[in-house]
Amino acid sequence: MFIETLNNLTSAKAIELEEKYGAHNYHPLPVVLAKGEGPFVWDVEGKRYFDFLSAYSAVNQGHCHPKIIDALVDQARTITLTSRAFYNNILGVYEKYVTEYFKYDKVLPMNTGAEADETALKLCRKWAYKVKGVPEGEAKIIVCENNFHGRTITIISMSTDPDAFKGYGPFTPGFVTIPYNDIPALEKALEDPNVAGFLVEPIQGEAGVYVPEEGYLAKAYAACKARNVLFIADEVQTGIARTGKLLACDHENVRPDILILGKALSGGVIPVSAVLADDEIMLTIKPGEHGSTFGGNPLAGRVAIAALEVVKDEKLAERAEYLGKIFREEMRAVNSEMIELVRGKGLLNAVIIRPKNGKEAWDVCVKMKDMGVLAKPTHQHIIRFAPPLTISEEQLREAIAIIKEAILSFE
Ligand code: PLP
Repeated sequence: MFIETLNNLTSAKAIELEEKYGAHNYHPLPVVLAKGEGPFVWDVEGKRYFDFLSAYSAVNQGHCHPKIIDALVDQARTITLTSRAFYNNILGVYEKYVTEYFKYDKVLPMNTGAEADETALKLCRKWAYKVKGVPEGEAKIIVCENNFHGRTITIISMSTDPDAFKGYGPFTPGFVTIPYNDIPALEKALEDPNVAGFLVEPIQGEAGVYVPEEGYLAKAYAACKARNVLFIADEVQTGIARTGKLLACDHENVRPDILILGKALSGGVIPVSAVLADDEIMLTIKPGEHGSTFGGNPLAGRVAIAALEVVKDEKLAERAEYLGKIFREEMRAVNSEMIELVRGKGLLNAVIIRPKNGKEAWDVCVKMKDMGVLAKPTHQHIIRFAPPLTISEEQLREAIAIIKEAILSFE
């Protein structure tokens, strides 16, 4: 019955089903994807596209990477979930691998990015009370305007985007909001002795790939250290080779006190996220004080090891660095009034679209889709371009030609 439905499904029917039976909390481009391989996805009718979103940077290793899928299938046939009520034979091996990979004492495994962010906030508060000596219930965490850390009540309590928080109050207290990329504002906020942490995206992804000034992260880190405040990096979108280094913080040689990872930690195969920190911080959480049924499951551990091996084996950070330069150079050379600005790092880039004759970023994305490249506007005028890092130079140049043609079609 299910297979029969699948075989007869058209894109129109699939969209109709989602519309009728799914909550209306997304506004997708009208394309129905049925298959993925490397940098490509195919729709239900068999049309091929370059994927220039990579599931918001979860698919850095490319769709259905054979090494990751082999690990998934092998482990899925063996054991998938034990809960943390018992030990399992994969978790410790994964924990050793991931902590050595990112050079931290310990990891706390979770599933989604939002959960990992929540974990980091809890960890920071525990550390504030147990180590820093902030009076119980008084800890504050500094966050930035236009941040995006996920969708839970506490996370949207830190948001300055009305779409994210409006109608969901009351909110979690304990956050101080400052402008992004503003060291004096950070230094001022750090004067409060109850501040325990500074949570920051090294590049603001959802805000529109907003790259801070060079030196911002290093200066912010130093300011935090001067006040005994934890520097917490949300690298859920920027991490794992996307920006041309293993971590975006590596561009400024900053080692966050708490590192938050998600998305590409599994190559987009299953939800796997992680919080990394050293013992002084991580061991403030004791047995029973935090957890997740699926966090640290053997399937996730196997998949994450394979996904991280692919990043090293295929030199994805170096590829992102090299290919990103080509992308920005080529896009900056396009002679179109619609291109206001091109910015980004590695293969996390954005083109700011200046509307023309009533045509906006959305129209450009629809045009690109028709021509075989998928990307999505973030906010009204910004298009993010983030292909899988396994894309070849030839494929990238082919996609760039399509993107250029789509934009120029509005001239
Ligand atoms: N943090 C950042 C920087 C993100 O970009 C995202 C998602 O886009 C999240 C956290 C939330 O991750 P998830 O959607 O897996 O909860």
